[in-house]
Amino acid sequence: MTSENRRTADEAVGTSAGALFELVRSARAVTRSELALATGLSRTAVAARLDALLALGLLTAGPQVTSTGGRPSESLRVAHDAGVVVAIAIGRSRHQIGVHDLLGGELGSVSAEHEVGSPAAALMPRIVAVARDLLAATASGRTVVGIGMSLPGSVDPEEVCSVGSPVLPGWDGVPLEPFLRELGTAPVWLGNDADALAHAEILGRPELRDALVLKASTGLGLGLVADGRILRGHRGAAGELGHCRVPEAAGRACRCGATGCLETVAGGWALVADHAERHPEAGLRHVRELVDLARRGDAEARGLIRDAGRHLGPSLAFGVNLLNPEAIVVGGDLVGAFDVLAGGIRETLFPAAGELATRDLRILPSVHRERAGLVGCAALALDHALAPHAIDLRVARR
Ligand SMILES: [Zn+2]
Repeated sequence: MTSENRRTADEAVGTSAGALFELVRSARAVTRSELALATGLSRTAVAARLDALLALGLLTAGPQVTSTGGRPSESLRVAHDAGVVVAIAIGRSRHQIGVHDLLGGELGSVSAEHEVGSPAAALMPRIVAVARDLLAATASGRTVVGIGMSLPGSVDPEEVCSVGSPVLPGWDGVPLEPFLRELGTAPVWLGNDADALAHAEILGRPELRDALVLKASTGLGLGLVADGRILRGHRGAAGELGHCRVPEAAGRACRCGATGCLETVAGGWALVADHAERHPEAGLRHVRELVDLARRGDAEARGLIRDAGRHLGPSLAFGVNLLNPEAIVVGGDLVGAFDVLAGGIRETLFPAAGELATRDLRILPSVHRERAGLVGCAALALDHALAPHAIDLRVARR
């Protein structure tokens, strides 16, 4: 982080108990003196707020750390066992359900396939039943403080429903919260899959303040992280990268109903279709199978994935010039062939983007690799349930 960025971030720091909790949670300040320095509060005022957080069981003592003055002092950390969140990641043909502690650590998870095109009324009760069993087996009676869920495509977080998913036919406008009420009264937060991936990255790399988080799976999506915050856009459709029209896809029909979308040349579903056309005998059905082939050294699979990267580069270059991120993070099923995909992206991104915007730009695999979708849903719930205003509310109610 540059000194200028640091100053902007510090200016945004509040002084409530919730703000202090956020500083500890993001590891930006973990000792009493660091908290006083970051907030401008007196040590007495810091102590009063920490007492409230410790009394609620939200913080606990961490290891001794040596400060810049050389004196060891006690650090604070989030009490991982002060509650749990339920994570539900729903994809085209697979769903994952997890129970996570307050640091995002997984206590248990289940992953299962479902029939493509399953309606919400059929799939949601199955998912809720599995989540209920998983909670009984792993949560040891701890309170569920939130439920984080992701769907592919655009979502309406207020109504908790899909609003534009070419992947889940029949789901648009169907309220999902009533199904989840079987799990209790914990609030539900819905994001799209690329947002969830961005939440996972922030949880795994809190130092990353500006990033483009690419979800490269069956479909394509982009999570936009600016100054540590995820941008959703006016209608929640920010980062719908896959459905940008690009010249090399001209005339190719997309699953969204349009033609010429980037997904038709770089989305996992299109790569699988290309492979099936050339090698019908291989019977490839899912992008994970294509990634497996690439990992075993199959030249054609590697070529398809590298080409997808080459197609992605120029579109990502626009994002790089607009946001000047320090990293592009790649997640989704294609992260299994990260080196091949990133190689293709590098070839076309760097020549197309500005010199200053790419000077320190890194392309990184997602911290949580194939588990990122689930961790992202947990992080989505944690980022809301543990947000400063939510913590302040708990302190006020005490
Ligand atoms: Zn499209």
